[in-house]
Amino acid sequence: MDLLLDALFIVDRDGYIQYVSSASYRIFGYRPEEMVGRPVLDFVHPEDQQRTADVVQEILQGDLKPHFENRYIRKDGSTAHIMWSARWSSDKQVRVALARDITERKRSDARQSAVYAISEAVHSADDLSSLFKAIHRIVDGLLATPNFTVALLDPRDGGMDVHDFSDGPTLESHSEPVVKKLCLELIHSGRSKLVQSHLLGVSLRSNDKIYGAALLHRNAGTDHFSEQDVELLEFLGEQIATAVERKRMHSQLEYMASYDQLTGLPNRHIVLDRIQNAIARESRRRGILAILFLDLDKFKEINDTYGHSTGDEVLALVAARMNECVRESDTVGRIGGDEFVVLLDTIKQKSDVIGIANKIRTALSAPYQLTSVTLHLTPSIGMAFYPEHGQDIETLISSADSEMYLDKQGRH
Ligand code: GH3
Ligand code: MG
Repeated sequence: MDLLLDALFIVDRDGYIQYVSSASYRIFGYRPEEMVGRPVLDFVHPEDQQRTADVVQEILQGDLKPHFENRYIRKDGSTAHIMWSARWSSDKQVRVALARDITERKRSDARQSAVYAISEAVHSADDLSSLFKAIHRIVDGLLATPNFTVALLDPRDGGMDVHDFSDGPTLESHSEPVVKKLCLELIHSGRSKLVQSHLLGVSLRSNDKIYGAALLHRNAGTDHFSEQDVELLEFLGEQIATAVERKRMHSQLEYMASYDQLTGLPNRHIVLDRIQNAIARESRRRGILAILFLDLDKFKEINDTYGHSTGDEVLALVAARMNECVRESDTVGRIGGDEFVVLLDTIKQKSDVIGIANKIRTALSAPYQLTSVTLHLTPSIGMAFYPEHGQDIETLISSADSEMYLDKQGRH
């Protein structure tokens, strides 16, 4: 009996343990003599006691229970997951039960589910902050680690963007500045992990690029991190790094799809979208708005005389000057080679728009001092007002375009 890996229990009708084999020590941490004479329910995890009592009733009525699972509290306070095979012996008036320790299997199942849950969170999260929150929940559920920190390196200035999820009390030695320092150490040392008794850190690395670091820390008095915990955090680190990389790439693509690379101005697509929204808004408010359509005069000559890159330089300067002539809420966009559109939002009177158009004309007509040459150019500008010159975007733009054309003809 003592060689059995499972523990054999004999329990009387009232639930008191009459006999238990010596495997009890390995499974529950109690020697048989510490368990005999006590109610078996005393050792059951409080959350599972009612369920267990119900099943005992079924066994007493003669049901065979070959696969019942519940949790016990070990002598050291940890939880044991047990699978039972039990039956009632009516001639001996005792319950006979075999207890198998399935804690390890449960743990690896939970770990496997956590790995799936993390991969799923990485694929479905809308933004990084909600991803980190979701990961924190998963990791806390699995490792009972309430304190989780993710520090992301800011690619622009090398600073750190720290996301801290600390539900539990934090040790002095794991306070925010210390955790930040450890993250920095991990990032700059090129080490992939940092393992201390109650603290575990990994760098966030994808395609040989370091995006930051993640740390888990527990409080003193709780379990140390195991080798498997380290492995899980390493997996987590890779997943987070991939998510960050993908998110950044996505933002970059979004930016490239919306902004003109040469001037940094919103492109045609975005400008038309903003005009469309402004028309919808002003139609509700019964307000007016203005569109300026602008084309540079004889711009091709600059390219032809000084080269395309000089032309590019001038276009970037034109964009910057135009931006300085309008308010923050207005939109200056580049919609073609040397064509720009200005959307003037919520204007009070038409004369304000004429003032802004003149300001732009003056600003663009000032000399352009480039490294090798000083250039001069002028713009042709047309304007159209909503709703006066058009109720929809096409009519408005074509009206401003015709005005611009008239202006250009006047100056050629
Ligand atoms: P007009 O006075 O009638 O406006 O004539 P223009 O020479 O300005 O020529 P137009 O407006 O018809 O054409 C714009 C020119 O701008 C065509 C092309 O040579 C130049 N261009 C278009 N895109 C770029 C660009 O990205 N960089 C540079 N350097 N030049 C460009
Ligand atoms: Mg032109």
